[in-house]
Amino acid sequence: MKSFDFDFFVIGAGSGGVRASRIAADLGARVAVAEERDFGGTCVNMGCVPKKLFSYAAHYAEDWQDSRGFGWNPGAPEFHWETLLANKNREISRLNGIYREILASRGIRIFSERARLAGPNLVEVGGKRHSARCILLATGGWPWKNPFPGNELAITSNEIFHLSKLPRAMLIYGGGYIATEFASILHGLGVEVTLVYRGDTLLRGFDEDLRTFITRTLASKFRLELNRQIVEIERIDTGQLRVILDSGKEYRVGETLCATGRRPMTQDLGLEHTAIRTSSRGAIQVDGRFETSEPGVFAVGDVIDRVTLTPVALAEGQLVARRLFGEQDRQMDYQYIPSAVFCHPNIATVGRTEVEARANGEAYEVYQSQTRPMKHSLSGRDEQAFIKLIVHSESQRVIGLHLAAPDAGELAQGFAVAMNCGATKAHFDQTIGIHPTLAEELVTLRTPR
Ligand code: NDP
Repeated sequence: MKSFDFDFFVIGAGSGGVRASRIAADLGARVAVAEERDFGGTCVNMGCVPKKLFSYAAHYAEDWQDSRGFGWNPGAPEFHWETLLANKNREISRLNGIYREILASRGIRIFSERARLAGPNLVEVGGKRHSARCILLATGGWPWKNPFPGNELAITSNEIFHLSKLPRAMLIYGGGYIATEFASILHGLGVEVTLVYRGDTLLRGFDEDLRTFITRTLASKFRLELNRQIVEIERIDTGQLRVILDSGKEYRVGETLCATGRRPMTQDLGLEHTAIRTSSRGAIQVDGRFETSEPGVFAVGDVIDRVTLTPVALAEGQLVARRLFGEQDRQMDYQYIPSAVFCHPNIATVGRTEVEARANGEAYEVYQSQTRPMKHSLSGRDEQAFIKLIVHSESQRVIGLHLAAPDAGELAQGFAVAMNCGATKAHFDQTIGIHPTLAEELVTLRTPR
């Protein structure tokens, strides 16, 4: 049998890469990992983790106002961006260390450099070539800016986590996850936010009623420029950015955040030395077992551009490692993957949207409600929560759950377990609610729309 330097060479130490490496090493494989940036990938360094910390910070603004109705006299709030940044950086460094330790403590060989494929079973790193029985590409994605004059003046989600100063006014471009989350965060931190989106309803791909609800709710908090595109950005004498929209309207802001999507990171990966195929968006093509068209080379996570969420990359990496080194051959199930957007209020979703249910051609029922969270009876905030269930008429299985509510992500996770187990509307109905919570609304919806 041919001998290799390593059993498993992983390129990219983000969520998918680290999980696959750890499991492979635990199963006895000789593993190497190459990472040219910080350990933990986008999620830990420029994504989910710092974003959630910022989101907590932003929430205090509303909590501060809401506390008055509960008898507090909180005085004038004062926010220090520098403190948040320093504390966030300290926490991220701690996590980087943990990720590195996960690998080092298992005897995994770490290359803190860029690695490239040099041919089948061959990786080049630091000027040397290493052979590996299997290779995993887990290089993730990178922000993509749509082309327009001056787009180099706009920052992306990579830079927003390191701004030395928080501008007084900011324009955010896009209507997806990152745009809506950062519009809420920056608004909460006191920035005058304008969100520019080319469509008329934010968050394409989510349930239409949920989209309408959240678009209306966010419009009551900060300025939305819908059905608009940026045509140009230029720096003016004051140091500000002049942003021109296709309506002719101009904004002067300190920064513009471009959140117009992400693309798989495949550049300079040496794909040309292999038979690996990519899609028109640059995503690495894999089969049901995450193997590329080059035998022995696998890919998971954002670089395959299937469902670009951290927990999905973790699950995919785990499946690959277990199949290669643990003789467990499970298929990835992409149904009922819960997901949350941490705009304020949060939204969360599990399963099918109504559009998808309709497209499936089967009969379904919709249970929907809008209610004022109990907290706002005293806070005085005029904000509603939105709840929607989609039920398959014949089987009565709950096939879609859509929420806009405080901590919607926390709520949806448990319901996702039930839905993965095939919960029916009758299961929801027979479950006793927890009173008084918003979650109990989900088990007390009785009349279809
Ligand atoms: P999204 O795909 O969510 O949104 C991209 C936005 O940019 C859309 O509103 C899209 O409009 C718009 N857009 C795309 N092309 C253009 C263009 N040429 N001109 C103008 N607007 C354009 O990407 P994000 O960058 O927000 O986030 C990337 C991914 O990261 C997400 O899809 C998600 O998978 C992941 N993520 C997950 C988070 C979470 O789980 N909470 C948080 C943050 C990111 P249109 O809708 O009209 O196409």
